[in-house]
Amino acid sequence: MTEADVKRQLADRVARLKERIARACQRASRDPASVTLVAVTKSTSNAIATMIRDLGVKDLGESRPQELWKKAAAVPNVRWHLIGHLQRNKLERTVPLVTLIHSVDSERLLQALHEYGLRQAQAVPILLEVNCSREPAKTGFPPEAIFEVMDKALSLGGVRVQGLMTMAALADDPERARPTFAELRQLRDRIHRRFALTLPHLSMGMSQDFPVAIEEGATIIRVGTWLFDGLPDPSSASP
Ligand SMILES: *Cc1c(COP(=O)(O)O)cnc(C)c1O
Repeated sequence: MTEADVKRQLADRVARLKERIARACQRASRDPASVTLVAVTKSTSNAIATMIRDLGVKDLGESRPQELWKKAAAVPNVRWHLIGHLQRNKLERTVPLVTLIHSVDSERLLQALHEYGLRQAQAVPILLEVNCSREPAKTGFPPEAIFEVMDKALSLGGVRVQGLMTMAALADDPERARPTFAELRQLRDRIHRRFALTLPHLSMGMSQDFPVAIEEGATIIRVGTWLFDGLPDPSSASP
């Protein structure tokens, strides 16, 4: 496959993904502009990440901070999203590179981000990660704790909570993820009533289940495999 072939294939996948997003929006009577696609580049090369940026997908996500540092250096002019666990000792180097941290999953991290935001005199935009599927192996706050965490976050001027994020349990049938996504939306609605504010974002839905997530109100979907799986690295493609 030549580089042009790889680019054509990727362009085709982006176009088909946008169609699927549009159809899910139509089923839910939503405006497709209300859904941001974050292309998750963790399993792909810098060259392909650059390609998708040049195809107009400007929001890219990485789950590991070190990998994000490398990708962000190699692929500029992108809004980077951190979607995986952030260790506090990697915070200083990561926060300046990202537009949104989706994965705030402990009060200690929340506190450390707040202190960083105060030092920089700029509140750090974050999402609170919620373990709606209640799998013990998953990170995130338990749904029951979220009012308390929100209360705390609102008292911390160095962070700005933009919404909630969750991951559904992996399942063959995407419908199995629906209750998880519905729960995150209901949790957000309860936060709205309780704290008299509006959180703009619900980050939920991956390759397996993004149409269901959109039907349930996702404003950010995080898609990797569906876009990148099996695409050869153009730097090793035959001319
Ligand atoms: C890897 C990852 C994704 C993308 O998953 P795919 O199934 O490859 O689309 C989304 N969210 C998080 C938090 C991830 O780690």
